[in-house]
Amino acid sequence: MTGSRATIPPARPVIGEEEIAAAVRVLRSGMVVQGPEVAAFEQEFSALVEGRHCVAVNSGTSALQLTLLALDMKPGDEVIVPSFSFAATANAVRLAGGVPVFADIEPGTFNLDPDATAAAITPRTVAIMPVHLYGQPAAMDRIMALAEAHSLAVVEDAAQAHAAALNGKPVGSFGLAGCFSFYPTKNMHSLEGGMITTGDAEFARKLRLLRNQGMEQRYQNEIVGANMRLTDVAAAIGRVQLGKLDGWTEKRRSNAAYLDANLKGVTVPVVAEGAKHVYHQYTIRVTGDRDAFQAGLTERGVGSGVYYPTPIHRLRPFLTEDGSVGPWKLPETDKAADEVLSLPIMPSLTDEDLERIVEAVNEVAGA
Ligand SMILES: *Cc1c(COP(=O)(O)O)cnc(C)c1O
Repeated sequence: MTGSRATIPPARPVIGEEEIAAAVRVLRSGMVVQGPEVAAFEQEFSALVEGRHCVAVNSGTSALQLTLLALDMKPGDEVIVPSFSFAATANAVRLAGGVPVFADIEPGTFNLDPDATAAAITPRTVAIMPVHLYGQPAAMDRIMALAEAHSLAVVEDAAQAHAAALNGKPVGSFGLAGCFSFYPTKNMHSLEGGMITTGDAEFARKLRLLRNQGMEQRYQNEIVGANMRLTDVAAAIGRVQLGKLDGWTEKRRSNAAYLDANLKGVTVPVVAEGAKHVYHQYTIRVTGDRDAFQAGLTERGVGSGVYYPTPIHRLRPFLTEDGSVGPWKLPETDKAADEVLSLPIMPSLTDEDLERIVEAVNEVAGA
């Protein structure tokens, strides 16, 4: 037991002196919205996605929603998504007027199963939206091949996976578009913020119009658009964090390697061949009483989290009209929701923290 030592939280967002100084500098400059900091942030972020066009927006959810709006879906158009994700993934489909179709996940990686995805394609399917869950790239080689064979758009939900890669190719560089989040608990943040990455210049222009009331030139509106602009304060904070991302990613990966090597009695994360996992979450499987397991960790001063306890297809907005669960058969999704538990993995963990996490998990697992 840990006695009086402070609890290790499941996540710890960084707002350091550099972030504060950057925010103050922008506030004093008077150029606070969609100005030079946003332009510089877009420019710098493109280095993460093979030089693709980058369009900054005010959240990760906005990034997904704007991208799906830009697909001009017709009523009844379907987008295949995993149900084992944050609700924003499926919310974005609905907000853009589409129908989310849920496909099951691979038990090892927790990511969209390409075979289940293939089986979910119908004549109404227009897009596939894989999520790089917990920071591990989805099976993009197989998903891209499937999308090409059926002429479908691919929108990557990369909200948890900044700088993750498959066979050396970064997430956000595979599909028509990649969508990143800069929410405080993500691997890097801008308080609130998001980024859309695309290799298609025309699509990027459309996203920029949709982001700003349909205008490129002020008051010369070309299409109907929203206001999803990012502030320069947020962009300046994001730029500071982007500069630290590589170091943070390496620390997350070395923290994960330590836990992999030392945890006993639980299933540690499975990393797919060729995948660079950036460990937004370090997620184990606990069979048996997960609540008791989590309580045991809490008693020992180790915070943990369940992402996500309820699969999206079981959340109220995604039930059928009579309130029952739709036609979905998602056994791996349901099993994962019952078993997953995420341990602290953030870059600020000390060696002592890591030892405490191992000791607590192994004790509670009875290993
Ligand atoms: C965080 C997250 C989002 C939404 O990002 P926000 O910036 O919070 O709007 C979307 N999808 C996934 C998988 C996420 O984890």
